[in-house]
Amino acid sequence: MTRLLDRTHTEWESAAAALRPEGRLFVDGGYLDAASGETFESRSPRDGTVVARVARGGAADVDRAVASARAAFDDGRWRNRSPRSRKNTMLRWAQLVRDSAEQLALLESLDMGKPVVESVRVDVAAAAGTLQWYAESLDKVYDEVAPSGPGQLVTITREPLGVIGAVVPWNYPLIISTWKLAPALGTGNSVVLKPAEQSSLSALLLARLAVEAGVPEGVLNVVTGMGPEAGQALGRHDDVDKIVFTGSGAVGRMFLRYAGESNGKQVQLEAGGKSPQLVLADAADLDAVAQAVSWGICYNAGQTCNAGSRLVVDRSVKDELLAKVLEVNRQFVVGDPLDPATSMGAIVDGAQLSKVLGYVESARAGGADVIGGRRLREDSGGYFVEPTVLDRVAGDSSAVREEIFGPVLAVQEFSGLDEGVALANATSYGLAASVWTRDVGTAHRVARSLRAGTVWVNTFDATDVFAPFGGFKGSGAGRDKSLHALAEYTGLKTTWVDLT
Ligand code: NAD
Repeated sequence: MTRLLDRTHTEWESAAAALRPEGRLFVDGGYLDAASGETFESRSPRDGTVVARVARGGAADVDRAVASARAAFDDGRWRNRSPRSRKNTMLRWAQLVRDSAEQLALLESLDMGKPVVESVRVDVAAAAGTLQWYAESLDKVYDEVAPSGPGQLVTITREPLGVIGAVVPWNYPLIISTWKLAPALGTGNSVVLKPAEQSSLSALLLARLAVEAGVPEGVLNVVTGMGPEAGQALGRHDDVDKIVFTGSGAVGRMFLRYAGESNGKQVQLEAGGKSPQLVLADAADLDAVAQAVSWGICYNAGQTCNAGSRLVVDRSVKDELLAKVLEVNRQFVVGDPLDPATSMGAIVDGAQLSKVLGYVESARAGGADVIGGRRLREDSGGYFVEPTVLDRVAGDSSAVREEIFGPVLAVQEFSGLDEGVALANATSYGLAASVWTRDVGTAHRVARSLRAGTVWVNTFDATDVFAPFGGFKGSGAGRDKSLHALAEYTGLKTTWVDLT
């Protein structure tokens, strides 16, 4: 993969021109058209051109994929293999992902607009790393024997749930898919994956690589299509045991409704955030804070569920810090995702760009100082926006309360620790937060007070597969990543043996 990081813009453009993405559904181990024969265009946000025609799956296709997944689960072709056998297959899959880094990275960048260098270094590497990490865990996790006394043997074992429906968003298609697939498949479930319509292509290749690695046909299926069609059909399917979802809160709540109105399936939600970076008056190094604040909102063009979208800063250091943040913002190179010099790529599509610019205009109309906020590179036919800061923005404005999913930072100021913590927590979300202070006692106390699934101290967005990820409040329920995620895909079975 390091070889790919040395490539020039022209070399990436030639590789993109040679790419022939597969856009058909992946069911029962092979590609096939949607039952309706319908397709939709997947357009690249880098220039508006069509990357592929993608199958528009509907309820009939979901039925077929779920039936395939169910048959594979029921006959035990995967779940009845030893953990070590599943491990070895998944390790091969991780290697095939690494071997396919060029294709996967290109699909990711063309489909959703992120810099291809990041797709190689972060997305493909993390996807392979996640598959490998869970694979390696499989023959090291033990079940339990209850303290029942000599007359009985009571074992408590974890059993796979059955058929998992995984519904994922467009911002990190490969990474978020593997967060679901690795623990789901590792524990012996079958899966029907529904990628976002904006970025379906890498999932279709990922599934083929699974089969090449030795995951039996039918165990992993991918149904592409629109949310209200394929997504809803999966959510309402009576033979799906659990939905695992990442995306917007509004759609997450629909899945709770679908579950309630169908078979009462379990639902795990990761539904975004409005994460604060809380900077106290005694923060040690404002240059480091500025880097973390700027990258925290501009990485992936702000299309990150845990983006640090609110800077909550003590009034005494605000002006100095803000000047430094703006300096870092100016250094971002907004450009073609295939150009290795680009540090900020595109917004996923025209609708999302309009949404981002709409928040900026509404903040401006409400009296905020807007620094940035313009669309860039319109001539390219793509969707680019500059790093943007909203200063003096009303606390009750939509730009402060809602997920924007663009490189737009809202600044909020306070005086004194209590007011700062209260402001940081004044959100309906609870996914992530950071606190910047040089006092270790304050750091621990504030970390306890911040209502978020992840709290960073003097850093931001530090992440690894070994740490759970998910949120409190409106950010959802359940956790991706770490060994804790294995519990999301399994249920406890008690086996009580009378020995007398
Ligand atoms: P979304 O919630 O609309 O879509 C996520 C997934 O749900 C996609 O696969 C989509 O096809 C599916 N879906 C959409 N509508 C559905 C429906 N009615 N029934 C069943 N499935 C449906 O998210 P998005 O379109 O990817 O992005 C929209 C907003 O969601 C963003 O602007 C952002 O605020 C938020 N978002 C959050 C995250 C996150 O990680 N928490 C990720 C992406 C987007």
